[in-house]
Amino acid sequence: MDFLVLFLLYLALVLLSLLLLCIYSARKQSFPSRYFTRVTQTISHIIPAQVQGAVHRVLHGLFHSRLFVALHLALEVLVFGEFTWEVFGYCKELEFSTPSLLLPYLLLIVNMGFFILCSRTDPGAITKSNQAQFLHAYPYDGVMFETGAECITCKVKKPARSKHCGVCNGCVHRFDHHCIWVNNCVGAFNIKYFLAYVLTLTSMAASIAGLTAAFLIQVVLLSNLMQGHYTDVHGEEHPVDASFLIQHLFLTFPRIVFMLGFVVLLSIILASYFCFILYLVMINQTSNEWFKSSRFKHRSYRNIYSRGVWSNMIEIARPLTSPTKKRR
Ligand SMILES: [Zn+2]
Ligand SMILES: [Zn+2]
Repeated sequence: MDFLVLFLLYLALVLLSLLLLCIYSARKQSFPSRYFTRVTQTISHIIPAQVQGAVHRVLHGLFHSRLFVALHLALEVLVFGEFTWEVFGYCKELEFSTPSLLLPYLLLIVNMGFFILCSRTDPGAITKSNQAQFLHAYPYDGVMFETGAECITCKVKKPARSKHCGVCNGCVHRFDHHCIWVNNCVGAFNIKYFLAYVLTLTSMAASIAGLTAAFLIQVVLLSNLMQGHYTDVHGEEHPVDASFLIQHLFLTFPRIVFMLGFVVLLSIILASYFCFILYLVMINQTSNEWFKSSRFKHRSYRNIYSRGVWSNMIEIARPLTSPTKKRR
C-alpha cells in the first residue's frame, strides 16, 4: 500500500506541476525566457558566455515552439494506446455496449477539430492596418486600460482589454492568455474554440476514466473478490478490504490502474479549469483581467464589461469589434 500512496503522490505532483506551469505561463508570457535568463545568470560564473547563449536560445526556442503541443499529443497517444490495447478488448469481452466504448474516440475526433481551430484561428491580432477596427469595441475603464496607451513593441494604439503577447510578439484583441498547449494566444476570435476544446478534452478524459473504472468494478464483482480472504505477512487471515483490493488490481492490471489514476486526476483538473473559464465568460472578464485585478484593488478596480450572463455568453460566440449600444 505504501507503494500505491507514493505512486498517487507522484501522479498528483506531475499534474500539479503541469497545472502550475499553465497558470504561470498565462500570467507571465515571458516566463520561460525570464526563468532561463535567471538560471543562466546564476551559473554565469562557471559556464562561458557563448555556451550560455546557445543553451538559452535552445531552451527559449523549445518553450516558444510546439514542445507542449508535442507533449500533449504524446500523452493522448499513450492514454488511447493503453485504452485500445487492453481496456477496449476486456470491455468487449464483458459485453459493454459498443457506442459507449466508441465515445472516447468520437470525443477525440471532435477535440482534435477544436484543437486545430483554436491553434490556427487568428485570436484577434492588432496591426497598424486594423487597429482602428478594434479601438472602439470596448470603453477604457481608466484603471486597467488607459485611453491613448500605445504598445511600445508593435507601435499600435492599444484598444481596451488588449494585451501584447511576448510569445506571439503581437497585441491581441480581448486578450485572455497565451496557451502553451495549443501554441497560440486565446483572444476574442478563438476563445469559443478554446472553451469547446477544454470541454471536449474534459469529457474525453472523464469517459475513459468512467469506462476503465466500470471495467475494474465488473472484474471485482464477477470474481467475487470482496467475499474472499487474504493472509498477511504474519500468517493471519483477513477479509478482503479496499486497500487489498486496490493493491490486487494494481498488481493484476498495472498499466490500466496507472492510466486510470492519471485520467481521473486529469479529469478533476480539467473540469475545475473549465468551470473557472466558464465563470469568467459569464462575468465577462478575461483571465488576464482576473489575474491583474488584485493589483488594481487599491484604485477601486471594477469590471465594467459585464452586460448580464446571457449577453456575456453571446459575446464569446460573436466577438465585438464595434461598440454595443446596449452597454451600461
Ligand atoms: Zn504589442
Ligand atoms: Zn501569444
